[in-house]
Amino acid sequence: MNRCLSCNSLLAKQDLVCGDCGYAVVVPNRLNIPRVLNTALSVLFYVALGMTIASLFLTNGPSTTICGILTVSLLFVRRSAKDAVEKTSRQ
Ligand SMILES: [Zn+2]
Repeated sequence: MNRCLSCNSLLAKQDLVCGDCGYAVVVPNRLNIPRVLNTALSVLFYVALGMTIASLFLTNGPSTTICGILTVSLLFVRRSAKDAVEKTSRQ
């Protein structure tokens, strides 16, 4: 349960402003770097995967081998990033 920093009254989880004094509630939203990194890696992975598939059909696009290597390495990096996220959320 959160409490208002200004008047110390109880706040509901979804409250953004204190009902008693109108104080804007600061949501404890710590920047989760592994999670952000994980999301970025997921995006990169799907971009690389899409490029690999596209390169199979395009003759003058990027090399399928390079895209395939990139996709596989991103898959491994993403997996270790996922482990890091799970480790941090368990703490
Ligand atoms: Zn208040």
